[in-house]
Amino acid sequence: MSMDAKEVKVHVQQLEKAIKEALPPSHLLDLLGRLKKGVVPTEAMLRETKVGMAVGKLRNNVDPAVSNAAKDIVQKWKTEVARLKACKGGAAQQRKQSTVSPTTANASLPSPVKAKKAEPKSAVDPGKRSKLTDGVDYKVTGDKIRDNCLGMMYDGLCIDGDAPADKILKLAQGLEAQVFSNHKNKIDQGYKRRMQTLFLNLKDKKNPNLRARVLSGEISVERLSTMESHEMASDEQKKEDDKIREENLRKAMAAKAVKSYSDQLTCGKCRQKRVSYTQAQTRSADEPMTTFCTCDNCGHFWKFS
Ligand SMILES: [Zn+2]
Repeated sequence: MSMDAKEVKVHVQQLEKAIKEALPPSHLLDLLGRLKKGVVPTEAMLRETKVGMAVGKLRNNVDPAVSNAAKDIVQKWKTEVARLKACKGGAAQQRKQSTVSPTTANASLPSPVKAKKAEPKSAVDPGKRSKLTDGVDYKVTGDKIRDNCLGMMYDGLCIDGDAPADKILKLAQGLEAQVFSNHKNKIDQGYKRRMQTLFLNLKDKKNPNLRARVLSGEISVERLSTMESHEMASDEQKKEDDKIREENLRKAMAAKAVKSYSDQLTCGKCRQKRVSYTQAQTRSADEPMTTFCTCDNCGHFWKFS
C-alpha cells in the first residue's frame, strides 16, 4: 500500500500542477487522500520528496474541504515523525541537540514560524504567482480590509519572481503594518489610496526593479511606505515622464514666442497649410534652431531642426 519516494514525487508534481492549473477541489482531495494513505512519513521521505511542503501549502486553500484535509495530513505526519524520533531517541538525538535548534528538527514539514538559512526558491510558475497559488495565510491582521491590503501587497511583491512565500509574506506584512501606522492606525482614505498606489507600482510588469530592490532589502518597507510614485517608477516610465515634461516645456515656450505662419509648412495629419511655428535654441548655440509647428486646424504638433 505504501508508496516509494518516486511515487510520492509523482504525486507532489500532480499536486503542484493541479494548484497551478486551478483544477477543481475534488481533484486535490483525491490526490491528498492517496498521499494520506500511501506516505510513510519518515523524515528522510519527507525531506527527499518535499511532500510535506506541497501539502502544507494547501492548508490555506480557499476550499475548506481541501484546507482541512491538508491540515489533517500535516498534523498526522508531524505526530508520526515526532513519534519515530522519540522511538529512536538516544545518543543521536543528544548529539544533535547541541548544534541544532528544536525548530529545525522538523524542517521537512511546514511550520508557520520557520527560520531558514538557505533560501529555497518558490516552485510556482513565476508568472502565475499570487497569494492563492502560493497558498499563503494572509488573513492575520484581524481586520478584513487590512487582510485584503496585505494580500494585495503580497500579490504585488510575488509576481514574476521566485522568492520564497514566507519571505514575501513577512515583507507584505511589514509593509501593510507600516502604512497602517503611518495613518495613525486608522483605515482611512489615505491608507486605502496608499495601498492602491503601492499595489499598482509593485505589480507593474515593466518595473521588476522595484520588486527586486524591495525583496533584496535595498528599499526598506519603511522607505517604500512613503515613497513617491516617480521614485518607484521604472526607468522606462521615468524616461517617458521626462519626455512629456520636455514636450510640455517646449509647448509652453512655443506658446510664449511670437507665432509665425508659413505657407511652406503643411500639416502631416490633415494636409492643411494653416501651420504656425516658432523657433528656439534648444541645444547648444552652434546647432540649428528647433522649429515647433502647430496646425491651427487640427492641433497636430511636431518639431524639426
Ligand atoms: Zn492639421
